[in-house]
Amino acid sequence: MMGSTKLSLQDKLPLTCSRTGTCCHGKQVLLNPWELACLAREKKNTAREFRDLYCEYGGIRLRFDGKIGWKEQHACSQYVDNFGCSVHLGRPLSCRLYPLGRQIQSEEVHYMHQGTEFPCLNGCPEVSGLPHLTVGEYLKGQETAKFEKAQDEYLDVMQNIADIAFELLLDTGLAESGDKQTLSLWRIMGNELPEVLADRIGPEWIDCLMLPEISGDLEDPVSFARKHNDLLRLKAQEKYGTLQTNQELHEASVLMMGVALQLARGLGAEPEILAEHWIATAKNHGAKE
Ligand code: SF4
Ligand code: SF4
Repeated sequence: MMGSTKLSLQDKLPLTCSRTGTCCHGKQVLLNPWELACLAREKKNTAREFRDLYCEYGGIRLRFDGKIGWKEQHACSQYVDNFGCSVHLGRPLSCRLYPLGRQIQSEEVHYMHQGTEFPCLNGCPEVSGLPHLTVGEYLKGQETAKFEKAQDEYLDVMQNIADIAFELLLDTGLAESGDKQTLSLWRIMGNELPEVLADRIGPEWIDCLMLPEISGDLEDPVSFARKHNDLLRLKAQEKYGTLQTNQELHEASVLMMGVALQLARGLGAEPEILAEHWIATAKNHGAKE
């Protein structure tokens, strides 16, 4: 696997884009629900229309089905030839950061780029002659702050949805009954292709995950994500608060874990690693596999 180069906010790099659009071809652009809503607003679509027209896997990834361009790769569905990004003001975090990436380790944020060579030099070598910027200046210019907050808040939502799966397994007597199927399905889902997992979750919960009915809060991603979190918990409470049989509890726990893993993928996390982590946690609390 290609390594990465860690950066400090003071590092100076050729971070002035030459606007050739090479990086809008053949990439994976993942989305959280707030980013999907922002893109839809920019495109003057409803979130559902935007999702159905331009996204994959229930809304966690932009389609790259545009015209073939750089290195014979398809352009992003939002890329317009000789113009550029059609949703520039609403573009998601990964587009704002590129060619940088962002990671949180031990609650600290790190920025990096892939490989040892600056990635833009691959498709746009002319950037080396354009003004250099510090990483901090670049992030400010790209107005990433709000989008980074959304990302971080949705990591909490992801954990909260996983916690519902834990509650359904550990606090209901299901784990105590000797159930072994639930954890083995959590593992299967962690390794499932995103389209298979989206099918397993089904349209009702996929829509709750990616198309929350929240009005008026798009300027405040933290409030949006928290309201979304409340909606998800309320729905789970309504649907699963009175379940009786172990089979029903098992199915509900699997479904909630599937929703958490689908959101995880949209946040750029690795579902297989998270599933293993959550399985180990459940085992530490008495669940079996
Ligand atoms: S590869 Fe870099 S310089 Fe080229 S279009 Fe993308 S961000 Fe701009
Ligand atoms: S959303 Fe815009 S900036 Fe991002 S890949 Fe698509 S066209 Fe490029």
